[in-house]
Amino acid sequence: MADGEVVADHDVLMIGGGLAGLRAAVAIAETSAHLDVAVMSKVYPMRSHSVSAEGGAAGAIADDDDTLDEHAYDTVSGSDWLGDQDAIEAFVAEAPRELLQLEHWGCPWSRQPDGRIAVRAFGGMKKMRTWFAADKTGFHMLHALFQTTLKYREVTRYDEWFVTRLLVDDGRVQGVVAIELMTGRIQAVTAKAVVLATGGCGKVFPFTTNANINTGDGMALALRAGAPLKDMEFVQYHPTGLPFTGILITEAARAEGGWLVNADGYRYLQDYDLGTPSPTPVLRSMELGPRDRLSQAFVHEAEKGRTTASPYGEVVHLDLRHLGEKLIDSKLPFVRELCLKYERIDPVHELIPVRPVIHYMMGGVHTDIDGAAGLDGLYAAGETACVSINGANRLGSNSLPECLVFGARSGRAAAEYAGSAPPTTAAVQAQVDDEVRRLRALLDRPAGDDDGVARIREELQSTMEEAAGIYRTGPSMEKGADAVQALRERADAVGIRDTSRPFNTELVAALELANLVDIGECILLSGLAREESRGAHQRTDFPARDDEHFLAHHLVRRADDGSPRIEQLPVTITRWPPGERVYGR
Ligand SMILES: Cc1cc2nc3c(=O)[nH]c(=O)nc-3n(C[C@H](O)[C@H](O)[C@H](O)COP(=O)(O)OP(=O)(O)OC[C@H]3O[C@@H](n4cnc5c(N)ncnc54)[C@H](O)[C@@H]3O)c2cc1C
Repeated sequence: MADGEVVADHDVLMIGGGLAGLRAAVAIAETSAHLDVAVMSKVYPMRSHSVSAEGGAAGAIADDDDTLDEHAYDTVSGSDWLGDQDAIEAFVAEAPRELLQLEHWGCPWSRQPDGRIAVRAFGGMKKMRTWFAADKTGFHMLHALFQTTLKYREVTRYDEWFVTRLLVDDGRVQGVVAIELMTGRIQAVTAKAVVLATGGCGKVFPFTTNANINTGDGMALALRAGAPLKDMEFVQYHPTGLPFTGILITEAARAEGGWLVNADGYRYLQDYDLGTPSPTPVLRSMELGPRDRLSQAFVHEAEKGRTTASPYGEVVHLDLRHLGEKLIDSKLPFVRELCLKYERIDPVHELIPVRPVIHYMMGGVHTDIDGAAGLDGLYAAGETACVSINGANRLGSNSLPECLVFGARSGRAAAEYAGSAPPTTAAVQAQVDDEVRRLRALLDRPAGDDDGVARIREELQSTMEEAAGIYRTGPSMEKGADAVQALRERADAVGIRDTSRPFNTELVAALELANLVDIGECILLSGLAREESRGAHQRTDFPARDDEHFLAHHLVRRADDGSPRIEQLPVTITRWPPGERVYGR
């Protein structure tokens, strides 16, 4: 088979085999059995980043005195009032049903001795409502969903296909061009509707919990196709990553009673309006405060010289020793395993060095509450989408259920659209041919001696950390934006040393680099436009939240000349008017 052929036509094509993509596929298979559904993924679905989620998934049901309103309020205030409250209300109402449904599909939720679902505390949540499967929650959730997709013969899979372009004609998305990695062939798959479920973009930064595959491909594809991205300035640091590898030590470690201590062995969070130390965890206090506040506190400790130098930067320590071996082995076995394997530290007896690490993108492809991305036939769900329930700061354990709730919603909406969408237009073939020419030219371009994909990516990552880290300023982001422009020129000219076709990882890395550059630019431009501090976007030149001017989302889209444009979109407020974010009390 030659390059440029349209190899199949489906009703709905999911890009992404993580939680959001698989949930969307199952939603369609269950409700519209006559539709032809496909899932395309650049890795085998079980290798999607969802598999590495540890801590748990929030759903207000298990604790007797919990309510949907309290989950909604915690999410609204956690978002620093930037989350859309209609989406949040739908989310909290549907999350428990989704989690129960997942159990029926085989997810082994941890249980209390009396058989009821066990829940744990999580940062920024007033009640214990985080369901978990020990500390391998994502693995079990994804596995249950993956097995469920296998029941449905109408779900076609394209494993290890890398999407490079959305096909858009007649004002609607009609499919994709992708590289079948095993052969290297460049092919097209058309579809009446496409759901982007491509996950996050942590790799824009140097130090991240995210997998190497999290390069924001879906966001870049949508942007180039003409769909806007939303709230890209809000990038979450998780307060506890292992130095060097960036491997996550789950918030569950603090939920089970772990303490964060500085170089003096002092629980420093008491100095940052996060409550006073208590021997047992107190909800929304101290170590169970929200992630943005905890990461910011780390920076202040470092400035005061109260952190510890390590070969991989300054660290504080997570102390689990007082929890005891029995609890650690039953509730946090993976934490112990990770520490032993990657740091040669046993948390039963030793302190774990940790530092803030890029973890999650609150922004993403702008969608409505049913995943529609503002371009006919295009939907998005999961971390690549911005509905938005997370606003300026996501609460831990809200993302996994978000993938389920909005994965299912977008699947259903895409199915409905596909049911009455017109057939593919002939003009898309010209776009396929155009993409084949572009990719072949990239493969044929001679590689220079000094500039390679890896070097440019490293420079991009360090530029982003300096320009838009935990604290940013106008000048830091302007300087970063200029540097990203220069890096874009180098990335556009980069040559590929490996000219073979099967599994050409260098080619894939070059395409991912182009995506990272686009995402980096959007983060910086959205950040520059937001002259206030809110949630994870902290500007030392504009330290206060400014609801008068910035209680609004930022949309960034490409103008006809290719340059990015920013506009504002009002936040939907239903029942909770903007207020102060108070923790520790
Ligand atoms: C270490 C870690 C721990 C976490 N723990 C928790 C937790 O305890 N609780 C919680 O709520 N959240 C947690 N999160 C966040 C949460 O896991 C993610 O936000 C969520 O799983 C994302 O799921 P997704 O389906 O959107 O994307 P992913 O699971 O990342 O899947 C993306 C899919 O898109 C495919 N793809 C991407 N680009 C392309 C392309 N160009 N062509 C074809 N396919 C493509 C990939 O192959 C993959 O299948 C954690 C995140 C990390 C990194």
